[in-house]
Amino acid sequence: MKKGRTAGIPAWKRGLLVGMIGLMAVGAAAGIRDRQAEREGQRAMVMGEAPGEKGQSLQDAGKQTQKRETKKIALTFDDGPHPYYTEELLDGLAERNVKATFFLLGQNIEGREEIIKRMAEEGHLIGNHTYYHVDITRLEDEEACREILDTSEKITAITGQPVEYIRPPFGNWDKELECEVTMLPIFWSVDTLDWTTRNVDQIVQKVVTDIEENDIILMHDSYDSTVKAALRIIDLLQAEGYEFVTADELILE
Ligand SMILES: [Zn+2]
Repeated sequence: MKKGRTAGIPAWKRGLLVGMIGLMAVGAAAGIRDRQAEREGQRAMVMGEAPGEKGQSLQDAGKQTQKRETKKIALTFDDGPHPYYTEELLDGLAERNVKATFFLLGQNIEGREEIIKRMAEEGHLIGNHTYYHVDITRLEDEEACREILDTSEKITAITGQPVEYIRPPFGNWDKELECEVTMLPIFWSVDTLDWTTRNVDQIVQKVVTDIEENDIILMHDSYDSTVKAALRIIDLLQAEGYEFVTADELILE
């Protein structure tokens, strides 16, 4: 007889054990459903409707928020995709089972379609960072909208998904801007200054020292130093119990 983990345990105890494992599995599945419901609730609020309208009471949504235990944070990468470093980063994220957010420049999309397809397939959130990295507030509305819509159109042509979020370059967003499609801006709470220091230790130190629950971290996937720093940050903060999520999960916290 093959010696398994339950060998030597009386039959009635084995039954109990199997029952307990079954219950644990049901519990875990319920937890996943709770998180899903909670996310739907948050999304409903972004869209301006009460969670109750999706068949869930406000009170329930509140309870689920309290129940959450993990500390969530989001890594965001602007200005990509980069023909080499973005893929290196995606490899590292996949190995660690981490989801991140990428705000792409329209001008960087052509020839890098496979990288963008991979981002979408691996569960990362893809957002808009304008076509030519422009300051939206300095442009006429028509031109500003073209910057945004052309970029979204290119992304959607690759992923098949609509683009809902924008990281406005320089953090300058015009709330009054009305394009054909409504975009939700996502800013940041921790600026790593990775593009200026290009120093792995400094980037890691800055994030690990400043980090708080629900932080959105700004980085750029165009540098070797950023990729190395991002992966080290993940390893350090996962060990502290942080969970890395896409930025849309945090903007209403
Ligand atoms: Zn940028």
